Parts: sequence; structure tokens; C-alpha cells
Amino acid sequence: MTNPTTQYEPIIGLEIHAELMTNSKMFCPCQVVDSVEAEPNTAVCPVCLGMPGMLPVINRRAVEYAMRVALALNCEVQHHNIFARKNYFYPDLPKAYQISQYELPIGLHGWLDVELEDGTTKRIGIRRVHMEEDTGKLTHLEGGGSLVDYNRSGVPLLEIVSEPDIHSGEEARAYAMKIRQILRYLGVNAGDLEKGVFRVEPNISIRPIGATAFGKRTELKNLNSFKSLADGTAFEIARQTEVLNSGGRVVQETRGWHDTKRITFSQRSKEEAEDYRYFPEPDLPPLAIDDAWIAEVRASLPELPDAKVARYQSDYGLSAYDARVLTEEKAVAEWFETAVSSPTFPDPKTIANWIINNLFSLMNEHKQSIDEIRVTPARLAELVGLVEQRAINNNTAKEVLAAMFTSGQSAPAIVQAQGLAQVSDEGAITAVIERILDTNPDNLAAYLGGKEKLIGFFVGQVMREMRGKADPAVVNRLLAAALAKRKP
Ligand code: ADP
Ligand code: MG
Ligand code: ZN
Repeated sequence: MTNPTTQYEPIIGLEIHAELMTNSKMFCPCQVVDSVEAEPNTAVCPVCLGMPGMLPVINRRAVEYAMRVALALNCEVQHHNIFARKNYFYPDLPKAYQISQYELPIGLHGWLDVELEDGTTKRIGIRRVHMEEDTGKLTHLEGGGSLVDYNRSGVPLLEIVSEPDIHSGEEARAYAMKIRQILRYLGVNAGDLEKGVFRVEPNISIRPIGATAFGKRTELKNLNSFKSLADGTAFEIARQTEVLNSGGRVVQETRGWHDTKRITFSQRSKEEAEDYRYFPEPDLPPLAIDDAWIAEVRASLPELPDAKVARYQSDYGLSAYDARVLTEEKAVAEWFETAVSSPTFPDPKTIANWIINNLFSLMNEHKQSIDEIRVTPARLAELVGLVEQRAINNNTAKEVLAAMFTSGQSAPAIVQAQGLAQVSDEGAITAVIERILDTNPDNLAAYLGGKEKLIGFFVGQVMREMRGKADPAVVNRLLAAALAKRKP
């Protein structure tokens, strides 16, 4: 029996399934359709319905997408690929086997660097990346009975298996989010957890600190958000700790995550590889991938998030934090890069601040993504340029951006139409200052008596009188001069 004070170390490895966004399925010409929106069983054919005697043909684009992922995750792409049959019966699997890869997958021995919340970076090994096909989808009816939709049957699926290098729910979340980010950069997966096109299953065990052997693991399913991944993993670590501390034993099993109760529950005992009687798929020849093809795919990879973050810091002088925020989504990063390349105002730091501090809040408020907004990168640069030339002040510029957001107009057009141009005319500003000083004799006396903080009050009054359009630097200078003149 284990001593109740034993300290345990969690050991976690993730299996991630990602549907590939190809036009057609893995082994037949059927279209890949949205599994939520499409009419059930409309994108099917004898191959993906598992009719006897039908022959699969490998989707070249799916192999290319798998290769992109393998390369982006620093795997060695294998020249000799074998598809294998994984045999089991389930109503969503009409052939009663899934074509997968077993001993010879497309990618091996990769790794990924993941940033943790404390700012440190951790390298997590990628054991393998392999190609397979998705199953159909079952809907269980409340009154009993189930419906099956084979639209998803045969959709290209990638499985990414990590080494057991992860040690907490938070790390699991950070790793899975980074994988999703990379797949989206590569344009091979939409990353939608709710739609099930990106599915994460952690394998979790604990062992006494200092022990070398792994403990028995449980595998968690039904995680439909990154929060559930972090919470479910943490729950499972706590549950296993309690089991061991109370003298029990962890059983190897598959457990489900209950999203409302926020607990895990036993689903079924874990099957072992031998239960599937894997053997090489006799209907498919070995898939040979030569160096030329690998080189071609490698050359076509986009710049990935880590490389962008490094470049934004070295070339643009951004902080690591700002660089991460701007590169989270490829579309945002590209928008930023276009803005920075605009001739109007190519100062990356200022542009970055405007995007992070102002544009993002407008996008949140209006629930629009970067592809949907009407503000263009060049027009943001133009707006920032107006501030820099002191044509409008910073506060006015924020209002102008909001107007650009809803109207799609340019900054100069809005400034002109609404009369928002900044006033730097010293005569006009001085006139307002004198009036404010005359109409606030008590505050003026207090200021002259030593309450110098009241300068802020006068600045505020002047700005208000001038509807925020006065150049703040000019106001401050002229106000100081006017006050000095009134000293007894
Ligand atoms: P299986 O199909 O048997 O689940 P996979 O190779 O698909 O095997 O995935 C196994 C996953 O579980 C890998 O991510 C691996 O790192 C992880 N893993 C293996 N053993 C343990 C363990 N004892 N505790 C936690 N994770 C483990
Ligand atoms: Mg597994
Ligand atoms: Zn088909």
C-alpha cells in the first residue's frame, strides 16, 4: 500500500485527431462536407459505405497535407509508408475496419516547443503522425434507437501522438492549442473543437516522484473545449491520486468527461493494439514518398508562428508578448504585415499598439473576425499617420477608428466630414484659455495659492470647450504661459 503522503508526478501524452480540409475524401472521390450542416448521407459512395469489392485510392492532396504537418512538427518524413487495417465492429464503421497507418506512419520523432503561462518554453516530443480515415457519425435518439450519417465516413484524418512529456492540464492545453494554431497556419484544418474536426484525447497516469516506471493510464474522451481538456486532465490527476492514496489501484480504461458535472466517468476498459488485429491493407500498395516531393512540400510551408514571433521581435522591435498576440492567427499576422508595409506610416510598434489596444476591442464588440472587418491595413496606417502628423489627437483618432469600423470610410474622409481636425492655432487656443481662467476665479486663486495640481482641471476644461480637438501639447504650453502671467 502506498503511503498517503506520497507525492506523485503526472505523466500525460496526447492523441490529437484532425480532419484534413481536402476537397475529397481519403480513398474515394466523395466531397468532404460540413458534418453539422450538410444533409445526412448525401456525400457517400460505395467505397465509403463499405460495399464489398470496392477499392480505395489514396488522395494525393491528403498525403501532402499530412506531410506539411509532419514537417511543421519537426518529424522525419518516412519514405516507405504502409496503410494498415484496424479491425473492429461499430455501426459508424461500415467496412468493420478502419484504414490507418500502424508500424510505418508518415512522420516519426518530431517535437514542438510550447510556451507555458509562466513565460518558459517547453519542448514536447511528437511520437508519430499518421494518416487514417474518419468514421461515420451516430446520433442516439432520446426514445431509443440511433441514426447514422456516413458523410464523415472516409474523411481524411490525421492522428498526432505526443510523447508522454506533459505534466499538467495546463501544459496539455498549451500543447494542444499550439498544434491547432500550426494546423490552421498550414491551412489543413479549421480547428473547430465543437464540430469535432479537431479532437484531443489525453492519456493520463501518475507515478510516485522518483519512480521510473509509468503508472496505469486512463484515456479521456468527449473533450469539446480547451478548458475541458485542462480541467478534465486536472480532475483525472486528482482522482488517480486519491485512488492510490486510499490504497486502491488505477485501472486502464477509457473515461468520458461530463461537461456540466465536470467530472470523468468510466466508459470502457482500454483495448490493446492486439485487439485490433492490425495487418497491412491488401487493397493499397505501399506509398512511396521521394525526397523531391518532401523538398517541394517543405518549400511550400508558410512562415510558422515561432518564426514570425522571432522576426517581429528582431525586425520590428516588438515585445515577445505583442509578437505572440499578433501571430496567434495567421490572418491577423498577415493583416499586420500589410499595414506595416504601407508607405503611409510604416512604424510597426505604433501599428501593433493600435491593433492590440483598439482594433481588437472593436472586433470583439462587433463580433467580427479580421477577414470580415471593413478597415483595411492601409487605412489603419493612414489613420496612425494622421496622429503622428498631429492632424488629429489620440482620443479623436480612437473615435475616427470606430467610425471607420462601422462606415468603411477612410480616416481623412471622416475627419473632414465631422470637422475633427486638430486645432493647433495658438490664437484660438489662447482665447479659450483666457475665457476658462476668467470664468473659474476660485480655482484660479487656489492654483496661484499653490495647488498646482489644478493645472489638470484647466487642461480638461480647455479640451472640453474645444471638443477634444485641441493639440494637447500646444494647450499645455500656452496654459502654463497664461497662468504664469496671472501670478501676482
Ligand atoms: P493507444 O492507441 O494504445 O492509446 P497511442 O500510441 O495511440 O496508443 O497513444 C498513446 C499515448 O499515450 C501517447 O501519447 C503516449 O505518450 C501516451 N502514454 C503512453 N503511456 C502512458 C502512460 N503510462 N501515462 C500517460 N501517457 C501515456
Ligand atoms: Mg489511444
Ligand atoms: Zn465515398
